[in-house]
Amino acid sequence: MPELPEVEVTRRGFATALAGARVQAVRLGKPLRWPLGIAPSALAGLELGEAQRRGKYIWLPLRADADDAQGLLMHLGMSGSLALLDPAPEPGPHDHFDLVTARGTLRLNDPRRFGAVVWAPGLHAEPAATLLARLGPEPFDAELTPARFHAALQQRRAPIKSVLLSGEAVVGAGNIYACEALFQAGIHPLLRADRVSRPRAARLLAAVRETLARALTLGGSTLRDFSDVHGASGAYQAEAAVYGREGQPCPRCAAPVRRRVLGQRSTFFCANCQRR
Ligand SMILES: [Zn+2]
Repeated sequence: MPELPEVEVTRRGFATALAGARVQAVRLGKPLRWPLGIAPSALAGLELGEAQRRGKYIWLPLRADADDAQGLLMHLGMSGSLALLDPAPEPGPHDHFDLVTARGTLRLNDPRRFGAVVWAPGLHAEPAATLLARLGPEPFDAELTPARFHAALQQRRAPIKSVLLSGEAVVGAGNIYACEALFQAGIHPLLRADRVSRPRAARLLAAVRETLARALTLGGSTLRDFSDVHGASGAYQAEAAVYGREGQPCPRCAAPVRRRVLGQRSTFFCANCQRR
């Protein structure tokens, strides 16, 4: 599943190249998770702004004039990838959205079709507003201080690992990054979120930021083609301390790494180094 670093690397792969280009045509393939919400022909002639990211969504502004706030909200779902193709080959059976411009075609390939491209009259208008309203703060937002992160954890009684995955306290800590950040911070994944002390919350936030920053670096350096959305997590996994390493020695204490299923996701941890 594409995680936040892959989505950010994807965004960087086309944002600058397409900013200022005009939509020549929009082509749809099979239905995605939600309908586009506008006739594709209504988008022709609009000018693309610079793509932004919020959580795992990409917002692509489209303007008829300076005051226009409309755009497309895109999500890669479970298996989606975006590529900027110039020239674009004929769409294949899993290519379900094409945005054609003079600077190339932005194409969504999504075999499982949990991804989406949805039109909204503005980022704060429906359906974008509801989809984005559930998201917690961005990991690198300076306003997300350790104190605010700790306060958000205090509101939740679920295991800290589940709270990280929910994205309510901070977005972006997908399964690999949540496991690794908890290991780095020395926190047991089953510890109740409201029992994480203030200093441990500060260490955890720093660890989440470090793991995501490292994945972004790996994604940026290993992705020759940004449509390979699994590049960042794949490269990150290769150097993971606990993720995917059940039974192997913990890099800190050499005790075997354990695996438990929590919320239908595999959780990897060291019972010796990560305390409740
Ligand atoms: Zn250990």
